[in-house]
Amino acid sequence: MLLLDTLTQGLVDLEARGLTRRRRIADTACAAHMTVDGRDIVGFASNDYLGLAAHPALVAAQAEGAQRYGAGSGGSHLLGGHSRAHAKLEDDLAAFAGGFVDAPRALSFCTGYMANLATLTALAGRDATLFSDALNHASLIDGARLSRADVQIYPHGDAEALAAMLDACDSPVKVIVTDSVFSMDGDIAPLAALLALAEQHGAWLVVDDAHGFGVLGPQGRGALAHAALRSPHLVYVCTLGKAAGVAGAAVIAHETVIEWLVQRARPYIFTTAAAPAVAHAVSASLTLIASSEGDARRAHLAALIERTRAILERTPWQPVDSMTAVQPLIIGENEATLALAAKLDAAGLWVPAIRPPTVPVGTSRLRISLSAGHSFDDLARLEAAFDRLGETA
Ligand SMILES: *Cc1c(COP(=O)(O)O)cnc(C)c1O
Repeated sequence: MLLLDTLTQGLVDLEARGLTRRRRIADTACAAHMTVDGRDIVGFASNDYLGLAAHPALVAAQAEGAQRYGAGSGGSHLLGGHSRAHAKLEDDLAAFAGGFVDAPRALSFCTGYMANLATLTALAGRDATLFSDALNHASLIDGARLSRADVQIYPHGDAEALAAMLDACDSPVKVIVTDSVFSMDGDIAPLAALLALAEQHGAWLVVDDAHGFGVLGPQGRGALAHAALRSPHLVYVCTLGKAAGVAGAAVIAHETVIEWLVQRARPYIFTTAAAPAVAHAVSASLTLIASSEGDARRAHLAALIERTRAILERTPWQPVDSMTAVQPLIIGENEATLALAAKLDAAGLWVPAIRPPTVPVGTSRLRISLSAGHSFDDLARLEAAFDRLGETA
């Protein structure tokens, strides 16, 4: 059939360009040591930065939530699906991470992807201009497209270039949007400079803290707390499936912003609410993140980050200057990156190869994600493997 032939040809083209993606099947819970496709491996692929995804307290909380509220929510938030567990989670999130604004309120979502679509489409309409960092996450790019605003891309992390673009803009509504920690580079956006520009130009600053929440700042309160920023211009998005170890996301902002999202954000309104049990488990995760156990996990993660930076420095490839749990090693070409990932895999180390369109062409990379669940022995195995691979490179 002609329709299928077109797709088959497309798949052949992807394969020829080294762009085919393959899913692996995890046979056990997400953890530093897990069984994947039937083999025991050390995983450096997850975003489970604090090693909480399989934490007994969270597993118990999810089971308790299911006992109390059932398996599913049964509806959208506006039509019957909003449970006591969601309401409590929103209060908990506003108290935990809303210190950057007066009258903070949180709105929970099934995924960060949807939270970003909701935020950008609700804040930026056709009359708006949206300023987006060149390396922003795909969900922000898609949210910008869906908003129908005029979208201007500023060079990565370049507040000066952004200032010139804002000066030249006469839109009545301006929205600046950035990742806090860039997901494929691990570097941190110049948030203080961006906020100064937002205030100067009467713009919103939307910060996607998918990789900072739970990890950065005092008690893991996130990138805005880390940078000690405070302003009604800030709109904060955090995801709850990474360091928080469960699933979902939230937008936190001044209560008026949140009420606007409830009334107007289509990706919030027209979808079934997450299972209440998931919200119940996230509330338990927030307690853990803020506890002394959370502090200990963050301290161990920081030590692992330092050690990994030293290991990557000594390889023949190009590390990115990252102080976060995302530690990329830039290889360049797709095939070379895939070949290295395959050799690491043969050594029982799962380090994913990241290729376009996730990263720019010619910057394919290995992305080492660290977790507080890793040990220094795990890093020693990684180091030994890189030593061997480096000799033959
Ligand atoms: C993972 C991620 C998202 C999406 O969050 P999900 O909850 O996985 O949908 C959004 N933004 C960034 C920067 C991310 O890394």
